[in-house]
Amino acid sequence: MVSKDNFLEEIKRYGIFIKTKEKLAKYTTLNIGGPAKYFVFVKNIDELIKVLKLSHDFNIKILVIGAGSNILVSDKGFDGLVIKLKGEFATVVIDRNNVVSGSAVMLPMLIKSAVDFSLGGLEELFGIPGSVGGAIVMNAGTKVKTVSENLSYIEAIKIDDLDAKVIRLNKNEINFGYRTSGLEENFIILKAAFLLKEADKNELSKRITEVLLERSKTQPLGTFNAGCIFKNPKEGNMSSAMLIEKCGLKGYSFGDAYVSERHANFIINKNKATCEDFVNVMRYIMKKVEEKFNIKIEPEIKLIGIKL
Ligand SMILES: Cc1cc2nc3c(=O)[nH]c(=O)nc-3n(C[C@H](O)[C@H](O)[C@H](O)COP(=O)(O)OP(=O)(O)OC[C@H]3O[C@@H](n4cnc5c(N)ncnc54)[C@H](O)[C@@H]3O)c2cc1C
Repeated sequence: MVSKDNFLEEIKRYGIFIKTKEKLAKYTTLNIGGPAKYFVFVKNIDELIKVLKLSHDFNIKILVIGAGSNILVSDKGFDGLVIKLKGEFATVVIDRNNVVSGSAVMLPMLIKSAVDFSLGGLEELFGIPGSVGGAIVMNAGTKVKTVSENLSYIEAIKIDDLDAKVIRLNKNEINFGYRTSGLEENFIILKAAFLLKEADKNELSKRITEVLLERSKTQPLGTFNAGCIFKNPKEGNMSSAMLIEKCGLKGYSFGDAYVSERHANFIINKNKATCEDFVNVMRYIMKKVEEKFNIKIEPEIKLIGIKL
C-alpha cells in the first residue's frame, strides 16, 4: 500500500527536483495565485513519464502550466502537482517547411525562428505571450488567424493514461474551436508540428514589427494582465471589450484589480490584487453586461480552483 507521504521521496529517488508549497503567482502573468502542494520542472520525456506514473500511484491531481498567461489561480492555490515543462520540451527543429516545436517554446520565439528560416504563416500571432502548448490548448489567435491553422499534428500524453503512452494526434483528430481545442485538462502536449510557407524574410520581419506595434497601441502591455478575460459572445456583433466599455466599466476596480482604460476586456492587477479581488471585478462585469444587454459573457481565461 502506498502512502501519500512517500510521494516526495519517490520523486526525489528518481533525482527529480520537486518543490512543495510553491507560490504559483510568480508563474502567472497576472502575478496572482496561492501555493501548489507540489511543483516540478520536468526536462525530458523519461522524467515526465516517471512523474505521471507516480502521480497516478499516489492519486495526485495534475495541472500543467505553460507561460501562465491565460490562467487565474485561486488564492488557495492548487492541491496537487503542478508540472512545468522545460529542457527538451523547449527546442525547435526545422526541416524545410516543417517546423516541430516543443510545447514549452514561447510562441514569439517559435515565430522568430521560423522567420529566420524564411518561413511564414504564424506572424499574425506574434506578441501572444504564451507557450506553444498553451497556445494549442487555447487555440490562441486573433481576428484573422488561429494557431491551429498551420498545425499538422501534436504529440501528447493523455493525463489519465496509466501507461503514460505518447500518442500523435493529427489536426483533424482535434476539436479546435474558438479559443478551445477539447484538449483542456485531459492531455499534456509535448510537441506540435506546423507546416509553414516559404516567404521573403524581410517582409515577414516587417509584418511582425507591425503586429507588435498594433498590440502596443491597443493593449496595456507592461502590466500584470492575462490578455482578454472574456470570450467574445456569439450573440450580437459587439465584442466583449465593446460591451464592457458601453457599460461604463473602464477603470472599475475592486481592491487592486481594475478594468484597463486602454482595453476594456483586460483586467489588471495593479500591484497586490488577490484572486478574490479579480473574481469580484469579473462577476461585476458579467452582471452589468447581462443587465444592460441580456448577454452572458464567459471567461476566456482558465480558472484554477475558482467557481464564478
Ligand atoms: C498581453 C497578453 C496578450 C494576449 N493576447 C492574446 C491574443 O491575442 N490571442 C489569444 O488567443 N490569447 C492571448 N493571450 C492569452 C494567452 O497568451 C494565450 O491564451 C496563450 O496561448 C496561453 O499560453 P500559456 O502557455 O501562457 O498557457 P497557460 O496560461 O500556462 O495555460 C493555459 C491553459 O493551457 C494548459 N496548458 C499549458 N501548457 C500545456 C501543455 N504543454 N499541455 C497541456 N496543457 C497545457 C493549461 O493547463 C491551461 O489550461 C494574451 C495574454 C496576454 C498576457
